[in-house]
Amino acid sequence: MIGKVRDGQKEVKCMNHDPENSKWGQYAPSGGCDETLFIDAKSTAGLCWRCTSRSVNNMRGTQYRDESE
Ligand SMILES: [Zn+2]
Repeated sequence: MIGKVRDGQKEVKCMNHDPENSKWGQYAPSGGCDETLFIDAKSTAGLCWRCTSRSVNNMRGTQYRDESE
C-alpha cells in the first residue's frame, strides 16, 4: 500500500480501495475507490476527499436512524 514518500508524507490508496475492510466502505464507489492521497507518514491509512465528501453528505441524510429508536 505504501507508494512514494516525500516531506514526511506517503502516498497511499484510498482506504475504500478495499471497501469490505474499510470502516467507511459504505461510502466507496461500486468496485472500490481508485483514488490515492498523501497522508502523514506515521498514519496507516487515509480516506480520499471523494469518499470523505460522500460520507459527509450521507451523514446529513439517512445516517441517524439506527440509534434514536
Ligand atoms: Zn476514496
